[in-house]
Amino acid sequence: MSVATTLTLAMLAAPAWAAPVAYVVSPVMKDGDLTALEVTATFKADADGETHLSLPNNWMGRSGIWRNLTDLTVEGADSVVEDTPKARIIRSRPGRRLTLRYRVNDTLKRDPVQSDSYPSEPWIRPSWFYVDGVSALITIDGREDGPVSFRWGKGWSKDFKLASNLDDADWDEDARQSVLIGGRDLRVVRAGPVRLAIRGDHAFSDAQLSGALEAILRAERGFFGDDREKPFLVTALSLAPQSGASFHGTGKHQAFAMAVTPNMTLEDIRVLLAHEIFHAWNPNRLGQAFGPRGYWFSEGFTDFYARRLMVRERQITPQAFAAAWNETLRDYATSPAIAMPGDEAAGKFWTDPYADKLAYQRGALLAAIWDLKLRRAGSSLDAVLREQARNRDPKATMVRAFVEAAKAKGLDVTADIEAHIDQGRPIRLPADAFAPCATVTDVTAPVFDRGFEPKTDDKGAMTIADLREDSAAHRAGLRNGMVIVERRKGRGGDATTPYELVVREGDGPVRVVTFLPQGTQTERFQQLALTPEAAKAPALCAFTRTEASATASKPIELGKMINRPSSARPACGDLHQRSCPSHDARGNPPRHGDRRRAPQRLLARWRDIHG
Ligand SMILES: [Zn+2]
Repeated sequence: MSVATTLTLAMLAAPAWAAPVAYVVSPVMKDGDLTALEVTATFKADADGETHLSLPNNWMGRSGIWRNLTDLTVEGADSVVEDTPKARIIRSRPGRRLTLRYRVNDTLKRDPVQSDSYPSEPWIRPSWFYVDGVSALITIDGREDGPVSFRWGKGWSKDFKLASNLDDADWDEDARQSVLIGGRDLRVVRAGPVRLAIRGDHAFSDAQLSGALEAILRAERGFFGDDREKPFLVTALSLAPQSGASFHGTGKHQAFAMAVTPNMTLEDIRVLLAHEIFHAWNPNRLGQAFGPRGYWFSEGFTDFYARRLMVRERQITPQAFAAAWNETLRDYATSPAIAMPGDEAAGKFWTDPYADKLAYQRGALLAAIWDLKLRRAGSSLDAVLREQARNRDPKATMVRAFVEAAKAKGLDVTADIEAHIDQGRPIRLPADAFAPCATVTDVTAPVFDRGFEPKTDDKGAMTIADLREDSAAHRAGLRNGMVIVERRKGRGGDATTPYELVVREGDGPVRVVTFLPQGTQTERFQQLALTPEAAKAPALCAFTRTEASATASKPIELGKMINRPSSARPACGDLHQRSCPSHDARGNPPRHGDRRRAPQRLLARWRDIHG
């Protein structure tokens, strides 16, 4: 071959990173049962003949997830070297077509129960599977945000229904932002752009859930001015309840994955669904995520907007809106972690439930305060977030991008971030933070005192332990060792709702015991009281721009407004988000999942019973 021909061929050959990494997921069957998934990924070797692979490692507080992947081979390689357990180096001819093949194994071993919460590691059972992309897909270093193609392997029998967001056209994200579900009992239903892939029994019908999802998705896409018809996948599975109720979800690319106990109603989870769908923007469309230190933004702002958009769109009532905030406010004011510095809270996010909730609380409270300031100045947090989604610096973290977008609307938030996130100084809402919808008031109430500790054994059975004789629980007839058959009412941290427990002593009959979980001490916290007008006119809780001009202008307690004209940069077209600066996910830690995420009430209830 002449030099000229060689040069031409070299110029025509696409560089390795430009060719898609093609994933295929196939079943490994034995006697008609699914025993594992086989993943193949086909791609070209790096130009220097050394291609580096990254195996799943850390996810949702678990580590060493690479252990669930076995039988790894690479066709076309001269050698495959284990760099570390979570990394491989493939040596081959430069640009050679390589086929990586490996098995993804089950970590569940039985049907899922409430405490299993979410497949942060693969769930692969004889007739179904539920797998989060982060836990199962091996990626090629440097090509995480390069093109990806996907198809299901040929081995799947017809009775297996399958769904993944990787099925949807125009995948333009890290392959790990995927979720894969399948099963002989999987049901796939559609509602507009929503594809719901669901298995198990729930308190709502598939049509009710998919209808609610469609309404939420359209509301949130409308908020950001996005294409309302783009496909969106929701995967769902029911968990056998052990105590109380719970919801677990995590945002994926144009999708979210959930697992829920069948005693959760659609009303219980509507704001949570809105929270999960809002993760389609926050964080990745708003800036680079950077792990737990940024969760106050990615979780707290997401909570703030889940409530705001649901009440604005009349998906929840103003009463439900106030109730959701009141749980957050009470839990926050009485949290032992309230003054925890930001670094410590981030470090404890996955292990300390109070540090976990703190991220949601702080972010939501700061969002409310900043929104008030912006509305007083004729703008709004809505305007800042929309601007941030359109015109951020693609390399900036989501927090940096927010600081800049707020600055462009005249609000400097840096001092508040330093005081309330970094240093942990407790946050108080101004009285008119929610005007004209509600007034923020100070409330004094008895402290929560359950009087005993629920003890759970290996099988999930719960008993009364460490019961104090001076407690309301003791006076009502509870005794140490009694089995809690069911909790009908009451939640940890709420001193005003009576506990109603169905209990049994030994082999005796079941009986119902009711008591008010109040101690002798009192505590103070902020609460929202709906204004009489808002109770009649839900539009007052919409917090649209029209309402902003109606709010009184009082001195601002936190941070400071800065005088600067708002940004005049052109916005990306409403339906052309793809031409806007896109998020560079290279080297990013995966978006985090909501471990044991539930409406505060139900979350606390679940945690409460589990100590
Ligand atoms: Zn979340």
